[in-house]
Amino acid sequence: MSIDRPIHTALAVRHDDAPRVSFEFFPPASETMDASLRQTVARLASRQPEFVSVTYGAGGSTRERTLSTLRRILAENRLDVAGHLTCIGASREEVDQVIAEYAAAGIRRIVALRGDPPEGAGTHYRPHPQGYANAAELCAAVSAHGGFEIAVAAYPEKHPESADFDADIDMLKRKVDHGATMAITQFFFDNDVFETYLERVRRAGIDIPIVPGLLPIHDFARVSAFARRCGASIPGWLERGFGELDDDPQTRSMVAAALAAEQVDDLVERGIGQFHFYTMNRADLTFAVCHLLGLRPRMSAMPQLAEAS
Ligand code: FAD
Repeated sequence: MSIDRPIHTALAVRHDDAPRVSFEFFPPASETMDASLRQTVARLASRQPEFVSVTYGAGGSTRERTLSTLRRILAENRLDVAGHLTCIGASREEVDQVIAEYAAAGIRRIVALRGDPPEGAGTHYRPHPQGYANAAELCAAVSAHGGFEIAVAAYPEKHPESADFDADIDMLKRKVDHGATMAITQFFFDNDVFETYLERVRRAGIDIPIVPGLLPIHDFARVSAFARRCGASIPGWLERGFGELDDDPQTRSMVAAALAAEQVDDLVERGIGQFHFYTMNRADLTFAVCHLLGLRPRMSAMPQLAEAS
C-alpha cells in the first residue's frame, strides 16, 4: 500500500451489504474523560456497531471501572457490549468472580486475554500461582461458565513473546479449541501483513472470523512508541506521511483521515467485511471511516426523521 495511491470512492458508494464494525474504548480515569467518552459512544452508536468493547486495565487495574463503563453503555446506549478480561495477576477464583459479575450485568461477550505485567513491573510474564496460565485456559473457564461469545487476540506480526509464527498460531488454535469464536487482531498498517497472516491461520485449519483491529492515528509519536512495545511495525510510507507535520495539527489530522480511509478501503477490496476500531475514546476518525463504509444511523436512532416519514 502506498500513500501515493489516490483514495478512490469504492467505499463511499457502498450502502448495501455494509461491513460490520465494532469499537473499542478504555474505561475513563477522570470525570472529564468520562464526559468525553459519553459523547464519543453516543456519536459512534449511530453507526450501528455489532458490539462495543471496554478494555481491562493492565493487571486488572480497572476491574470496577471496566464493569461500570460496560453497564452504563448497556443502559444508556443499548449497544451489545463485550467486556475485556485478563487473567494476569489474579487467582482463578478472582477471575471467575469477574466472569460471574459480567454475566449478572447482562454482558454476553468477553474478550479473553492473558494481559501484560503493569508498567514498571518488568516485562517478563509470570502466571499467578493459583491463576489461569494463559488466554487459552481463560477461554476454557469462560466456556465452562457458559452464555458468552468469546473473542480472543491474534497477532498478524506474531506476539513478541512467541518463538515463531507456528507457536503463535498454535496458541490461537488452543484458544479456539477452548471456545473462542472470533479473534481480533493487534493493529497493523500494512494490509499485506494481515493477508499473509490470514493465509497462515487458514492453513492451520482455524476457521473463526479474524477481524482486523484498526488504529486510526491521532498521535503518531504515541502510536510509534506503542507499536514498538507490542511488536507492530510502522512502514516507512506511514512515517513519511506524518513526517515534518509536528507543528501542523490540521494537516496531520487530514493525513490521518486519508490513511485510515485508504487502509479500510484496501481491506474491503481484499474481501474483508468486518472491522474492529481501536478508538482511543475519540469519535472523529473512526466516525469518518464508518461514514465512508456506508454505515448510517438506524431510523430508530433518528426519531425526528422516523416520525416525519
Ligand atoms: P495468549 O494468547 O495467552 O498468548 C499470546 C501469544 O504469546 C501466544 O501466541 C504465545 O505463543 C505467546 N506467549 C504467551 N505467553 C508466553 C510465554 N510465557 N512464553 C512464550 N510465549 C508466550 N491487554 C490488557 O491488559 N487489557 C486489555 O483489555 C487488552 N485488550 C486487548 C485486545 C486485543 C484485541 C489485543 C490484540 C490485545 C489486547 N491486550 C489487552 C493485550 C494482551 O493482553 C497482550 O497482547 C498479552 O501480551 C497477550 O495476551 P493474549 O491474550 O494474546 O495471550
